[in-house]
Amino acid sequence: MALDEFTLLGDALWLDFVNSARGRTLSPPDRLPDVSAYARWCALHHLDLAGDRTSMDDVLTLRARLTGLAEALHEGRQPPTGTIAALNEQLARSVGSHQLTRVCGEWRLRFAPVRPLAALEAIARSAAATLAEAGTAVRRCAGETCSLFFTDESPTGSRRWCVAALCGRDARIERRRGLLR
Ligand SMILES: [Zn+2]
Repeated sequence: MALDEFTLLGDALWLDFVNSARGRTLSPPDRLPDVSAYARWCALHHLDLAGDRTSMDDVLTLRARLTGLAEALHEGRQPPTGTIAALNEQLARSVGSHQLTRVCGEWRLRFAPVRPLAALEAIARSAAATLAEAGTAVRRCAGETCSLFFTDESPTGSRRWCVAALCGRDARIERRRGLLR
């Protein structure tokens, strides 16, 4: 049931979080109207809420900040003032150590937390990873009524739609009619 409740593109955790207030229609409903909806969203992502003392205000404040970040990245602007400080504040909550691990024959430096990351920490970490990854672009869907954000990691940077079969359909129909070249 919860799977139908939320739109999960699965590109980046923080964008699924931002997308919880967005959708493929004009004026989509906010899918995180209360704490229990947020708990269901976290459960779907296997995020830890135990011992997390953040309030719904904290959740919605971070979502608003990250929405501003996604819009800035989509438009090729620098992150809005305060966004990086807010991300660093969440990252600073993590307790753990840096460790070298071997992945597919290569050494990687990883941060190993001593406890599962709290939900907002994990979301902030996801946003930080996107910012720090040079080859990852953030885009807003080109669908006419769609406001969903996604990551484009294609070598050509040519991804235009959240799901081509859904939002690309209008463009294909228009192309057939000769309206789009
Ligand atoms: Zn779309």
